[in-house]
Amino acid sequence: MSEQPRRVLLKLSGEAFGGGSLGVNPDIVGQIAREIAAATASGAQVAVVVGGGNFFRGAELSQRGMERSRADYMGMLGTVMNSLALQDFLEQAGVSSRVQSAITMTQVAETYIPLRAIRHLEKGRVVIFGAGAGLPYFSTDTVAAQRALEIHASEVLVAKNGVDGVYTADPKLDPTATKIDSISYKDALSRRLKVVDSTAFSLCMDNKMPMRVFGMEPAGNVTAAILGEPLGTIVHP
Ligand code: UDP
Repeated sequence: MSEQPRRVLLKLSGEAFGGGSLGVNPDIVGQIAREIAAATASGAQVAVVVGGGNFFRGAELSQRGMERSRADYMGMLGTVMNSLALQDFLEQAGVSSRVQSAITMTQVAETYIPLRAIRHLEKGRVVIFGAGAGLPYFSTDTVAAQRALEIHASEVLVAKNGVDGVYTADPKLDPTATKIDSISYKDALSRRLKVVDSTAFSLCMDNKMPMRVFGMEPAGNVTAAILGEPLGTIVHP
């Protein structure tokens, strides 16, 4: 019997797409797309959840006076723009891809249909999940965990900006903080380590989904993580 191809869910932050600014930086998104393309050429099946922090974060807008749910919908629409940008650069890199949106918008994206997403992956297409969960008060980290479970991915890969894994304390605040290579969900919880938001964390812990947290830099890391190299920190059940 032939070995099953590796299937992963890659979570990319919106902030990375903007390179620290509002909007999409084509150089950065092009580089990410080429790294995903290199991994799919080796046979990996890749689904992606993109954040929207380079456009809007609902919680921030609500602090400045907007109604939270409406602000969250703006956040979700931002993730769709990022999804389309990634699709464009993936196609330029020669990889077939589909965007599936949790909010129906048939002109720009397919509707989220899990079995169809799996079928795309089996055909070698990259599937990008846009519009988060379609639900206010959720984060794209949580969506990454949920989609990973639903498409039966073997791992959630959380690509970080400016940090290369989980540390014993916040390395920006505590110079004695050290990187952890491997930790269980239970230990991360009892040591109060911040990995992803608590809903995403619980979903993965309760459903025994491993999560690898790694840095997007240097170039090549996204490809390596998709192919299963032990970068950053593995958080295991
Ligand atoms: N969002 C939401 N529901 C979801 C996913 C996202 O309401 O299921 C909104 C929320 O306002 C969030 C914004 O979309 O702040 C952008 O997503 P996120 O903050 O997770 O992006 P990232 O920080 O990863 O760039």
